[in-house]
Amino acid sequence: MVFIVLDIRPSEQAGGSDAGPPFALRAGETPLTETLFCLDHQDDPVQVSQCPHCGTPWCANGGCVLVRRVGARIVWMRPWMEAYADESGRYNFIVGGEPVFLPTMDVGWLAQRYAPLPFIEHEPAWFSETDYRELLRRVGAHPDEVLSRIKPLSGGETSYLLRCLMPSLWGERRSDPPSWAVCDDRTLRRNIEPAVHPEGQELLKAVYQLRQGASLVDVVDRAPEFGARLLEEYDTAPGRGIARLGLVVPSAETRESELWHWAGRGCWARVKLSS
Ligand SMILES: [Zn+2]
Repeated sequence: MVFIVLDIRPSEQAGGSDAGPPFALRAGETPLTETLFCLDHQDDPVQVSQCPHCGTPWCANGGCVLVRRVGARIVWMRPWMEAYADESGRYNFIVGGEPVFLPTMDVGWLAQRYAPLPFIEHEPAWFSETDYRELLRRVGAHPDEVLSRIKPLSGGETSYLLRCLMPSLWGERRSDPPSWAVCDDRTLRRNIEPAVHPEGQELLKAVYQLRQGASLVDVVDRAPEFGARLLEEYDTAPGRGIARLGLVVPSAETRESELWHWAGRGCWARVKLSS
């Protein structure tokens, strides 16, 4: 599958609101929502599926996506809602990519409010900027204004996005993305092809750097040709065999070495490692 091309049409579900009738979104054959009334990006995460009765954002919970930019692409990814302890052992929470301190009672409430749109719960969805402008225009938003508001994908969010991909690689569905430690526990082996390639050691180092927070520079809809490839083999669900995740370095002879990582649904991301 290439980038998401949306089918946008008036929803058959009647909307009785001042917001006007809702739109229905499909991605190929997959229904995303029947209740898209508006798509302004002032909130982070953005609610793309609103209350079916009144169309007011946040009257109902869920149907949310984190919207970020990677080069010329726009991504809808799972809202980053994770707890972590800081140096002093204080319990913190990530909301919309930013760490905040929350009383425990608010955590469950926020998790419901920012529940992901089911379509992007396990894999991100990538758009070309042209298609995203078209979506915004169709639903009555101002493309230039909205696009100027979309933040670039940060290093921490990149790491989160890659962790969200792992269960679908293993053929599993989980409500929470696994930690890198869990991913490591499931690694059966790492292979470099060809074994003697001069970039081989760089690839191994890259695996660890990726987890610290690399930047994704661009996303394309085909696998790059490779000079060297790292295959990580993972233990999968019973009966599903072994899953292989490829990290790719194109030929280093003619151009600067580049690293590519699988980014879901036939998409590949060019990666810049922080040195
Ligand atoms: Zn309502």
